[in-house]
Amino acid sequence: MNVITIALSKGRIFEETLPLLAAAGIVPSENPEQSRKLIIGTNRADVRVVIVRASDVPTYVEYGAADLGIAGKDVLLEHGGTGLYQPLDLKIAKCRLCVAAPVGFDYAAAVQRGARLRIATKYIQTAREHFAAKGVHVDLIKLYGSMELAPLAGLADAIVDLVSSGGTLKANNLVEVEEIMAISSRLVVNQASLKMKRDLLQPVIDSFAGAIA
Ligand code: ATP
Ligand code: MG
Repeated sequence: MNVITIALSKGRIFEETLPLLAAAGIVPSENPEQSRKLIIGTNRADVRVVIVRASDVPTYVEYGAADLGIAGKDVLLEHGGTGLYQPLDLKIAKCRLCVAAPVGFDYAAAVQRGARLRIATKYIQTAREHFAAKGVHVDLIKLYGSMELAPLAGLADAIVDLVSSGGTLKANNLVEVEEIMAISSRLVVNQASLKMKRDLLQPVIDSFAGAIA
């Protein structure tokens, strides 16, 4: 029997994907928040979900270890998206990618006078392209989390990070000084899978398309 494997990350993407899966008649049999299982069955014998790190979703789909995956545009841009078919903006896990700096840091003036800025981020590629396009000189410092700490601890002048409510920035005395782009999650599909398993995949893709808010 042909089986389809869907790569999801736990947390907000898993939660916000549940209604889309339901529209395709797919109900995961466990919640990864409660279970430690990394492979989760569903009500359908021919559909399973694998739980991976958000930034690993494109890799699973690229190599065909998963046929479908759901990943943020932030993750896809950083990954490069090679070989992935991206048919749908699912409009879930919406936020924005921003430059943020400590309250009182005059970012516009620093940019204007051509200062060399130290920027801490998990999004090295996207940040590099953003600042290069503006002609701003930056030293990029790769971090894997808690970007907000970097300016407070003197590691960087500013950060490039995702913001939704702005609550985390505010709690750390930071302000958004520039929006780089709006972010939402996309469906990604392995191109070979789409050819080999089209009869199984196309109805799922169509149901997702119909359920986008
Ligand atoms: P990990 O927590 O395992 O290090 P992560 O931080 O990348 O991974 P999440 O925080 O669950 O994972 O984020 C997953 C995706 O959800 C991100 O890639 C982004 O597209 C989106 N996202 C992140 N933060 C927010 C937010 N505050 N509001 C809405 N969507 C967000
Ligand atoms: Mg996280």
